[in-house]
Amino acid sequence: MNMSLRSPLKSIFAFGLLRALEHRIQSIPHRFVTLAPILLVFLAGTLSMASMYRQLVFTSKEIQGTYDIEFLIKLRSALKEARGLRQFPPNLPSAGVTVNPLINLDIPASDKQTVRNLSDLNRSYLAEALSSPQWLSIKRRYGFHLGDIKVDLVRNFDGADFDYAADFNRFSDRLEDLNEYFALVADESNLTLDPQLDTYYLMSLTTAILPSLIDVISEIRGAHVSVDLNRSKADKNQSSDLMPNLSSLAILLEYQLTVLNRTLNIISFSAPSAYASLKLNRLELVDKIDSLNPILTDHQTSGAESAIKHWNLSTDLVGFLQNIETNGLRILREKLEDRRRSIALQLATVSSLLLLGSILIYLVNQSLYGRLSRALINLNQLANTDPLTKLLSRRSLSPLFYNFFRPDSTSFEGIGVCLLDIDHFKLYNDTYGHAKGDDALVAVASLLKENLLRKGDSAFRYGGEEFLLLVSTNSSSNLEKFLESLRARIEKLQIPHSASHVSQYITVSIGAVFVPSDCHDINLENILLLADKQLYDVKNASRNGLSLIQYTPDLGVELTVPVDRRMIH
Ligand code: GH3
Ligand code: MG
Ligand code: MG
Repeated sequence: MNMSLRSPLKSIFAFGLLRALEHRIQSIPHRFVTLAPILLVFLAGTLSMASMYRQLVFTSKEIQGTYDIEFLIKLRSALKEARGLRQFPPNLPSAGVTVNPLINLDIPASDKQTVRNLSDLNRSYLAEALSSPQWLSIKRRYGFHLGDIKVDLVRNFDGADFDYAADFNRFSDRLEDLNEYFALVADESNLTLDPQLDTYYLMSLTTAILPSLIDVISEIRGAHVSVDLNRSKADKNQSSDLMPNLSSLAILLEYQLTVLNRTLNIISFSAPSAYASLKLNRLELVDKIDSLNPILTDHQTSGAESAIKHWNLSTDLVGFLQNIETNGLRILREKLEDRRRSIALQLATVSSLLLLGSILIYLVNQSLYGRLSRALINLNQLANTDPLTKLLSRRSLSPLFYNFFRPDSTSFEGIGVCLLDIDHFKLYNDTYGHAKGDDALVAVASLLKENLLRKGDSAFRYGGEEFLLLVSTNSSSNLEKFLESLRARIEKLQIPHSASHVSQYITVSIGAVFVPSDCHDINLENILLLADKQLYDVKNASRNGLSLIQYTPDLGVELTVPVDRRMIH
């Protein structure tokens, strides 16, 4: 059979590409193809966002911790001042006594202000702070049970006997409690865990080193005041019980100063930005500490005057250190707030990019998939359609044929497999030219397509000037009538064919096989051979005629006697 060369090549190429694409993409469910990349991107994004969110929570806790510690520093300071001032005789005038600048005491301007009043002012500040909402929320946040600190400090002061030792011990116990809470807050708010260099040193300076140093200085201050005042009462030359205590505190102070110095050195080298932002005047610090040394070595002074002198010097130093402490805490907080801002920004950026990216992937996927499906459909059509006649190509014959015999297909008696071949078409081409020949092919094809009766019936371009019809039919004789009418209609097209030996118009010869639908063991190849043989017979006999045979499975290709054959001239 003759076929033009270009169309089969195109078909083969299109068919190969189609199969490869179909196999790869269509075997994966569409929804999965679209959603899988988005899900993967989302998973990666969510994991990184979760880690950022953890950092955000971590840093927020640290920031809250700096506020809480600042509050506790004030609380401790008030407690220390109240304790220290209790060492003085209660009625000593307060003139000349330095007050810790950290605590904002509303001190009434009165000549009769006594040291005892100052201590009470610190206590009432303490009482107020301990019933403030901030303290309540700290207690709740960290699970403190410090209710009794207030009761213990507020009760029994007015009119109580002056007993500096008992007072000192009572306040010291509460201070120890507070120190414990101080460490707990630093711990629970992650401040002791922070891995970053700057914040780590700032944190250890403000929550560990300076508080310890201040504690020692405060104790020295209290001990000195006691020594001075007790000496004035007793024999000036006799050494007091408190002297050894003062000496051991001096050793402790020296140790704490060494720790401070070492830490400041480390900060200035390892975290210069933190050191610079502390604006620490180390010369001033050294001066102040130097000025304290003579006091520590001086055990010979006595009386209220020297007690006040000792007190003032120490208070000044404590205030100075507390200033560094709260400054450090503020800088630490600023750094943490910067960090929180940048994490929040990252989180917002990542989440919006993630959302945008996912939407884009989805849209692009949808559009590409749509384009691909349309291309596949076009490709499919291209591969299955004959470009000249627009009839189905031979490639789709087999699936359509076997489709007829599917159990769910509409009921019919049988199908006709019919080959139609234009008579003396070579002569037609020779006479009228190839282009006219194409026109004639298109005309015959259109007529065939128009005359398909039932849904599911199809017309194929089987070869060059050969067509094949697959038609459902109720009986062999109906099929025969139908084919005969087709043959006649084609002749009635009256396409002139002066070179034909059988008619003055274009005619066809038809070889057909009727396949009953209850037939088993159907073999298309055999059926086609049979139809071809029928056609061959018509061509041999006369052309412009029809030969029909009924198919049975045992009917071989060699069969020579058709059960139903009619020749029409
Ligand atoms: P017969 O009656 O025995 O069928 O004679 P025939 O000339 O029709 O048969 P043959 O097989 O000898 O020649 C078929 C011709 O069909 C030859 C070829 O030029 C022509 N043909 C095949 N395909 C096309 C086509 O696409 N366009 C045109 N114009 N002619 C075609
Ligand atoms: Mg032919
Ligand atoms: Mg022919």
